[in-house]
Amino acid sequence: MQIYNSLTRRKEALIPIESGHVRMYTCGPTVYNFAHIGNFRAYTFEDILRRVLLFNGCRVTQVMNLTDVDDKTIRGAGAAAVPLKTFTAPFIQAFFDDLKALNVQSAEVYPAATDHIPEMLSLVGKLFERGLAYKSDDGSVYFSVAKLPGYGKLAHLDRANLRAGARVANDEYEKESYGDFALWKGWDSNDGDVVWESPWGRGRPGWHLECSAMAMKYLGETFDLHTGGIDNLFPHHENEIAQAEGATGKPFVNFWMHCAHLRVNGEKMSKSLGNFFTLRDLLQKGWSGREIRYVLINGHYRQPLNFTFDALDAARTSLARVDECVDALTALAGSAAAGLVPPWATHVCNFFTASVNDDLNMPEAFAALFSLVRESNSAMRVGSFKPESAAAVLKVFDALDSVFGLIRFGRTAHEEALPPEIEALVHARATARANKDWRGSDRIREELASKGWEVRDSKEGQKIKKL
Ligand code: AMP
Ligand code: ZN
Repeated sequence: MQIYNSLTRRKEALIPIESGHVRMYTCGPTVYNFAHIGNFRAYTFEDILRRVLLFNGCRVTQVMNLTDVDDKTIRGAGAAAVPLKTFTAPFIQAFFDDLKALNVQSAEVYPAATDHIPEMLSLVGKLFERGLAYKSDDGSVYFSVAKLPGYGKLAHLDRANLRAGARVANDEYEKESYGDFALWKGWDSNDGDVVWESPWGRGRPGWHLECSAMAMKYLGETFDLHTGGIDNLFPHHENEIAQAEGATGKPFVNFWMHCAHLRVNGEKMSKSLGNFFTLRDLLQKGWSGREIRYVLINGHYRQPLNFTFDALDAARTSLARVDECVDALTALAGSAAAGLVPPWATHVCNFFTASVNDDLNMPEAFAALFSLVRESNSAMRVGSFKPESAAAVLKVFDALDSVFGLIRFGRTAHEEALPPEIEALVHARATARANKDWRGSDRIREELASKGWEVRDSKEGQKIKKL
């Protein structure tokens, strides 16, 4: 499989460190609000990536963090006058509900930043030992970018602009104003009771530190793939690299992939511009998760995608065409066992495989899907098309759908969402397993069973079923 690596700015063969197993980190949501569909463009891009890896027979370990402490969550909790966890919990739940509504496969681990403060402190400790961290007068700890020769390699910063000692306190800032960034932020009154002890004084972690610490905990000091939206590239990902490589002296990540933005009238969809729709907004207007998923994945991830209601209309029409064809094939196949795949369907499947393996070329993958629909329809018009051939072609649809996640999903009533408590246990178990805490994993399995749920482990992760 070839992918465009943002680090080298070239298409490269994606070769994992461990043969047949890709370890990837995908920056997750900042849980201070409902995610908007721009955010879900990033998560559906990552879902397609994950599904293509699985389609190729690869094993995937995906970690997606939950940023549940940062400038924005603290501001939100302060404004709502509630404890941080009380403020973030409903947004975490909403995020998982939305992923389900969009048929996004679960990651193996969803670590929350507030559960990983010791790992973050130990990372800051290593940066002190290597002379890359220093304490400032305001009680915060900063990373000294001038001391790390490789700083700027992802964003291609011009080091001539580097002003040694210039500091930025905010988590987010522009490329032009780059300088030393906060690893650990000394407590101030805006933080209220959001505070942890550290060898450098009371405070809380910077956003960038969170991802480096959690990524290395679950995926190792060097791992294969790291992704996010293009706005994460700088400063977030640059700073993640600096912290990790500064502490370990080893390469942090071999491949970086970034998706372009979802836009509205030519502008990035974002909270700050106010031009956003949440998934809930669109579901309420009568669109289905399936239709929204279709729109979000129907484009090349490195090209900006313009969101319009016309696109949702078109998705509805296109899905109806696919459904009609699949229904007709299903009726024709009846209970017949699959026979030989007709050559035209093999040809489409090969074209599809080549497309997704060429840096996730989804426009071509969709062209393959519709050529399968067209060819199937013409085959069925010729009266001699046999049930076993129809059954074989349905298998090809299913193979393609393992990547699209559109055909077999959401056609009937909305799949029942897991109760929040069960969802939380399932995630806790995934974390236990990622930590090789088998006793913990078994204990949670029993707890789930006592509540009437059976969990099975499969290649795609945990499968949960009501007993
Ligand atoms: P945040 O919650 O702001 O940290 O963003 C979560 C993810 O959504 C990140 O990977 C962002 O890069 C991505 N993102 C935010 N806005 C957009 C957008 N309009 N289009 C695509 N991705 C976005
Ligand atoms: Zn991150």
